Amino acid sequence: MASLHRSTDPAADVIVIGGGIVGVSCAAHLAASGRRVVLLERSDIAAAASGRNSGVVQHPFDPVLVQLHLETIALYRALASEDDDGFRLPAEPAGLLMVTHDPGVARGLVDALTGTHPGLSPRYLGPGEARAVEPALAADVAACRLAIGYPVAPAAATRAYAAWAARLGVDIRVGEAARPWLASDRVAGVKTEGGRRLAAQHVVVAAGPWTPDVIDPSGTWRPIGRSWGVVVGVTLERPPTHVLEEAEIEIEPGREPNLARGATGESFSLVTAGAASSLGSTFLDTEPDPAGLVPAMLARGAGYVPDIASASVGPHRVCARPQSVDGRPLVGRVPGPDGLWVAAGHGPWGISTGPASGRLLADLLDGRVPGPPPALDPERFPPPPLA
Ligand SMILES: Cc1cc2nc3c(=O)[nH]c(=O)nc-3n(C[C@H](O)[C@H](O)[C@H](O)COP(=O)(O)OP(=O)(O)OC[C@H]3O[C@@H](n4cnc5c(N)ncnc54)[C@H](O)[C@@H]3O)c2cc1C
Repeated sequence: MASLHRSTDPAADVIVIGGGIVGVSCAAHLAASGRRVVLLERSDIAAAASGRNSGVVQHPFDPVLVQLHLETIALYRALASEDDDGFRLPAEPAGLLMVTHDPGVARGLVDALTGTHPGLSPRYLGPGEARAVEPALAADVAACRLAIGYPVAPAAATRAYAAWAARLGVDIRVGEAARPWLASDRVAGVKTEGGRRLAAQHVVVAAGPWTPDVIDPSGTWRPIGRSWGVVVGVTLERPPTHVLEEAEIEIEPGREPNLARGATGESFSLVTAGAASSLGSTFLDTEPDPAGLVPAMLARGAGYVPDIASASVGPHRVCARPQSVDGRPLVGRVPGPDGLWVAAGHGPWGISTGPASGRLLADLLDGRVPGPPPALDPERFPPPPLA
């Protein structure tokens, strides 16, 4: 076990389980409000989806999540202003091009989003126009342009938040797995995989897709599942300046426009932060063989950005998104024992909404707000059967 920062007093007010974007932001905001916090991460900071994502801080379309997103942008700006290691959020959004080979699809998207999200400035770009705005595109590509999307290196936000948490005095212990330790009707702390017990008044489980296993090892309570994503690193001579995402016309009211899918479940996205581009992605229910998907992803990508065919291809990564069954995260008290909290289930939006979820969790735990918005409240699911 390595300790990035160790307080002299081992007792904690709060133990946070999980060192992804959600766990580190919970820990930082709790410490910022004066709590003594220990964070336990079984592997490494940003080891899972929080370090393996596509790297875009993106407007989530879902009105329930938009407030979290807008606050997250403000929190990243504040973090960037005091981060010595160089975390930066671009001053302006790069712009999202929802690309398609069918101009009718792009026009339909613009019409639909003008109705539901006029503030995102939807604009139709026909094949010639799209290429004029984004020269990396193929000649036949049309697009719906939205004024959103801040590229960041995939692990950068989580590492910057972890560094801030450490500066605030959070005792971050990596290489230590834990689960809640319950004593009668309340939390007493955590039990580590090594058999130790650490006392705390409150335990926050922010273990991403593993959250249900950590809270209820019996396997009954399963409000969060896994949506497996594969991302391929590519280096392009002329990378696009926009965030690119393939789209279909169907849009559920208030929800993310559906992505088109290839035969093996792959859809196209491309995000460039610095010199590195992340080519994505998949949304699969079972863990795929990522290497087997890479050729189809490169071929699909090259249909939109021809230079992908000759790009230098870097390592690929696979990871599970923590996907809640209703598409919204769980942020608040776990129904049942006192002192047990959850912040997880952010699906494809964790980098875009996680920090504000951490701030909300800290406000709830400290009693600054009476309860979470109902759509985020863990009480919307039946309570876990906790021994
Ligand atoms: C391919 C892909 C692309 C994505 N692209 C984007 C994007 O561009 N923009 C965006 O906003 N979101 C994106 N996402 C979603 C985003 O990455 C996730 O929503 C977010 O990272 C989830 O963060 P988390 O902290 O909840 O979970 P995780 O990042 O999964 O972290 C959970 C942590 O808990 C630890 N843990 C588990 N069990 C224990 C235990 N018992 N004890 C201690 N530690 C434990 C794990 O090791 C892990 O580090 C993408 C996801 C994927 C997979």
